[in-house]
Amino acid sequence: MLSISGLTVDYGGVIALEDVSLTARSGVITTIVGANGAGKSSLLKAISGLVRPRQGEILFDGTPITGMAPEAIVRMGLCHVPEGRGLFPYMSVLDNLLTGASLRRDAAGIRDDLDKVFHYFPALKDHRHRIARNFSGGQQQMIAIGRGIMSRPKFCLFDEPSIGLAPLIVRDVIDTIATIAREDKCGVLLVEQNANLALDVAEDAWVIELGRITLSGNAKALKANEGVRRAYLGL
Ligand code: ATP
Repeated sequence: MLSISGLTVDYGGVIALEDVSLTARSGVITTIVGANGAGKSSLLKAISGLVRPRQGEILFDGTPITGMAPEAIVRMGLCHVPEGRGLFPYMSVLDNLLTGASLRRDAAGIRDDLDKVFHYFPALKDHRHRIARNFSGGQQQMIAIGRGIMSRPKFCLFDEPSIGLAPLIVRDVIDTIATIAREDKCGVLLVEQNANLALDVAEDAWVIELGRITLSGNAKALKANEGVRRAYLGL
């Protein structure tokens, strides 16, 4: 479980998050809905240690992780699949996947998790020795998700996994994230431009506006909320 209390993040005077307090449950998907610039990426980066909050506390399964180094946070079982994927374009699919396991020493476990990635994404297995830049946007997103799985996470943060993808692929990517959450019993915090789809697969949802949480609760209830429908679902 992730517990966030009184979290404030700023970038040299630009306030990105202000006094955010929330809980994301283990083993379920929580989605974060908000406009561009609302502070969604900053929230994920603060959780995974990529930005240092000015104030507040983040607990992961009861342990304070605020201000810890990103690799220490990954070691605890929390992974971040960033916006833009962050792949090494001239490295093979296999080597990109293995970077996700670079902090692990359990060779047998790493092999099992590689099999798991190829079970989720069979198309990657046949082409695992090809360099990542030769793959389509959807396949590159699969590599990025696979790299996250390779750290054997208990909790995964996904930042805009469907950005720039064709509409048909968007559904595949979100469905795969839902399958991973279900099969691996992995908690997920999902930031997704397609709020409709995200609210369908999520159990819980948060709405963030100008760095503050303005609504939180059951995803189905939020999907039915008139304000959410008008502002984020185009209805
Ligand atoms: P998007 O959907 O566009 O990615 P977001 O909801 O993820 O938006 P953030 O990227 O967290 O929002 O940005 C929140 C605020 O912080 C914005 O005003 C943004 O301009 C600002 N910001 C984000 N990163 C930086 C940075 N490195 N330096 C200065 N300001 C930043």
